[in-house]
Amino acid sequence: MVGVDGFRSPLGPAACVNDQKKLKFIQDITTRTDQVQEKLLAEILEMNAQTEYLNRFDLGGSTERAMFKARIPMVTYEDIQPDIQRIANGDRSSILSSHPISEFLTSSGTSAGERKLMPTIKEELDRRQILYSLLMPVMNLYVPGLDKGKGLYFLFVKSETKTPGGLPARPVLTSYYKSSHFTSRPYDPYQVYTSPNEAVLCSDSFQSMYVQMLCGLYQRREVLRVGAVFASGLLRAIHFLQLHWEELVRDIATASLSEKITDPSVRNSVAGLMCGGPDEELAQFVAMECGVEKWEGIVKRIWPNTKYLDVIVTGAMAQYIPTLEYLSGGLPMACTMYASSECYFGLNLKPMCNPSEVSYTIMPNMAYFEFLPHHNTTTQTDLIGTDLVDLADVQLGKEYELVITTYSGLCRYRVGDILRVTGFHNSAPQFHFVRRKNVLLSIESDKTDESELQRGIDSASELLRTQLGVTVVEYTSYADTKTIPGHYVIYLELLEEKIDERKSSRTVMAEILEKCCLEIEEKLNSVYRQSRVENGSIGGLEIRIVRSGSFEELMDYAISRGASINQYKVPRCVSFTPIVELLDSRLVSSHFSQHLPTWNPAGASADGS
Ligand code: AMP
Repeated sequence: MVGVDGFRSPLGPAACVNDQKKLKFIQDITTRTDQVQEKLLAEILEMNAQTEYLNRFDLGGSTERAMFKARIPMVTYEDIQPDIQRIANGDRSSILSSHPISEFLTSSGTSAGERKLMPTIKEELDRRQILYSLLMPVMNLYVPGLDKGKGLYFLFVKSETKTPGGLPARPVLTSYYKSSHFTSRPYDPYQVYTSPNEAVLCSDSFQSMYVQMLCGLYQRREVLRVGAVFASGLLRAIHFLQLHWEELVRDIATASLSEKITDPSVRNSVAGLMCGGPDEELAQFVAMECGVEKWEGIVKRIWPNTKYLDVIVTGAMAQYIPTLEYLSGGLPMACTMYASSECYFGLNLKPMCNPSEVSYTIMPNMAYFEFLPHHNTTTQTDLIGTDLVDLADVQLGKEYELVITTYSGLCRYRVGDILRVTGFHNSAPQFHFVRRKNVLLSIESDKTDESELQRGIDSASELLRTQLGVTVVEYTSYADTKTIPGHYVIYLELLEEKIDERKSSRTVMAEILEKCCLEIEEKLNSVYRQSRVENGSIGGLEIRIVRSGSFEELMDYAISRGASINQYKVPRCVSFTPIVELLDSRLVSSHFSQHLPTWNPAGASADGS
């Protein structure tokens, strides 16, 4: 299609006039990357010229990029936490942003075990909406006919709290789904979903999932794409079907909704689908497909017109690719965007590419982006700008840590993501997501670092020492995503000689190791504990005791593969299959948490600490 002004997108012919406009926008901002960035920085600096934060660095109202780079330090969350705490406590003065802070977005990144609180302003919602509005025009270039059916997306809100100063604190997607951008979105044939808003907005995760699944089953022939935000979420939905298909089948066969669905608005939202009366044929079909032992290709069998899975499988989510391939019968997986609570960054201009080839093009209109060369391992946070590279100046093949300056008042803030430049779209660089810094274990949105795990191990070791007289010789960890939901596994090698004979009967030992599982979970961050308690999206932690000498064998294995004997360190997390298999082959016993760890929704983000 050629638009009114004759524009032809180099990405391909647009599907409609609206798409044409959006593709032109992408073309425009990615052709002028540096100008867009310079103008955007000047706008932020002008807008926030009178903030306490910028005044601390004697910027004198300058909007010059050079001045900004010379005066403003690069920071981490911990550096600005005192300012964030003041805002959370109710200080309404212009601390970080001249515009009022409308709410806090609770990041899945943590600081001292608690969620990070990202201040945001109303206007940022519109900016995020701009990025969302670019996704379908790009997708339509590769998958035709998406206006002829619906999307089955499993979307959820999470619980929210208020800070002492009265501002809401909630995840960015909860904020988005509750906003009018989502609830009152105008009809768009390319964005019709099977899930009613009421089900998405229901904070009871069981009711929400049940009704979203039921609606997906009723509309199975219309479904053209199946998705969730992250791969872990989609797997949870499939697992839910595995657990509850009989109940769902009963509802379809009798045209009556389960009594477990108590929310009146959610009940109402399915009335239209059920008003046709019992659907024996559909009930029998679902029962037949779900009743078989092998769930290979279940997605394609139940939703036969699905063209792709819309789900992020890059970064920590890559571990789910094999399971999703199995369950979906090899459907393509589209990773469409790269975003965070701090800021939405960019999109994948080739969403149907292989997951290992995904690159995100950072959109120069979203924030001011700088890049810390990754070989630069400095921990100095008062580093002055010269080391940071601008968006338009990054070099192909190099790795960088992302640093952002946002309208909401984050200035030269280290996001913690490591990205590698894989190419350019016009003058806008494209990045492969390499990894998140300091993350050892992740099942879904949880991010557990080495020090958090160490705290848990210390605590469990203490329990083993005092209760059994046993010493932990070595440990490592593993994110086991073969189970649904996935769970953390801790491999422990114990010093057996020291086992106190009187106390070491098998049952006592097993009981104490189960307590150790819980002890470790209690020491993990609040995002982990929330996922365990609130929606069960992470399974109970498992301790696997391995035979004495196993960790020495692990070292021998690493050395045989070229590791230096002098520099060898026990990896605190393993993922390489032969290593996991080696440890599993030395298994003595396995123990699971028998209880849920503590998680207090009100305390999760209310005090901002
Ligand atoms: P949060 O602050 O909880 O919203 O988490 C944001 C983080 O999730 C980012 O900084 C990344 O580390 C990760 N993330 C978001 N989108 C992607 C993606 N498309 N691929 C890989 N990791 C992602």
